[in-house]
Amino acid sequence: MDYQAVLEEVAAHARPFVRQGQVADYIPALERVSADRFGMAVADIHGAVYGVGDWEVPFSVQSISKTFSLALVMAQSHGSQGDGDIWKRVGREPSGTPFNSLVQLEAENGIPRNPFINAGALVVTDRLQTLTGDASTSMLHFLREESGNPHLAFDQAVADSEAEHGDRNAALAHFMASFGNLENPVPSVIEHYFWQCSIEMSCRDLAVAGGFLARHGLRADGSRLLEAREAKRINAVMLTCGTYDAAGEFAYRVGLPAKSGVGGGIIAVIPGRCTLCVWSPGLDARGNSVAGAAALDHFTTLTGWSVF
Ligand code: GLU
Repeated sequence: MDYQAVLEEVAAHARPFVRQGQVADYIPALERVSADRFGMAVADIHGAVYGVGDWEVPFSVQSISKTFSLALVMAQSHGSQGDGDIWKRVGREPSGTPFNSLVQLEAENGIPRNPFINAGALVVTDRLQTLTGDASTSMLHFLREESGNPHLAFDQAVADSEAEHGDRNAALAHFMASFGNLENPVPSVIEHYFWQCSIEMSCRDLAVAGGFLARHGLRADGSRLLEAREAKRINAVMLTCGTYDAAGEFAYRVGLPAKSGVGGGIIAVIPGRCTLCVWSPGLDARGNSVAGAAALDHFTTLTGWSVF
């Protein structure tokens, strides 16, 4: 497969979609990003990386971090209670509600539907805080290691902006705490969550960092981060819950495990082949990058490499 040629063709296809949709503004610091941006990277399982457009420009990973915090909790749980512990506190079904919704939590006794809605991600961050003592710094080190980029950093302005406008996330955390589903104090859990969302990475960084998901749990150097069945589980939850309340539509159009973020990034995995990341800040009404979804749709059309 000539990845570079495919990427060029995908970028040309996606170009008319760039600037469509809205750049997220509910976290005011995200609004400063230009809507014109488009980049895409592919990292194959053997370590080769290809890119097009703004593929080396860092952006706010936001909810894409939820994939990596779940992976890190699973990796850190080896030898202790195992990953079963986290699945007692968070489910793995699509929620059918917006990512920051409170409505299901009361009826379901403070157990979030899945780890990729905000409530579920807060539980995962809480677990990571217990396991590591410093969830956000552990995430930063993990992402530096997996991406091979030692310069990855938090974006303080984004973290501060999110904290300032974080009443909804604080409400979710307090509500879960009232059901006994947090192990750490609410202020510390939401602070680490905001920091982890603020990390800036490029398409290149994210495609490389997510390589273990395409290598059935193996890192680039052949060492094992996750068991193959754990990587399968993360990919499965990405497919069913990773693109907000549009995961069904995304599976229909693209047919790959994927996780999107309100920064406009989407990572997608083709198990046994490669990990992709695409970025363009304009979001559709559900919160997924318009040009990013069009690009991934075209990528699987051209290659025939959806998981189906
Ligand atoms: N930090 C964002 C929030 O909690 C993440 C949103 C997202 O990318 O889905 O609102």
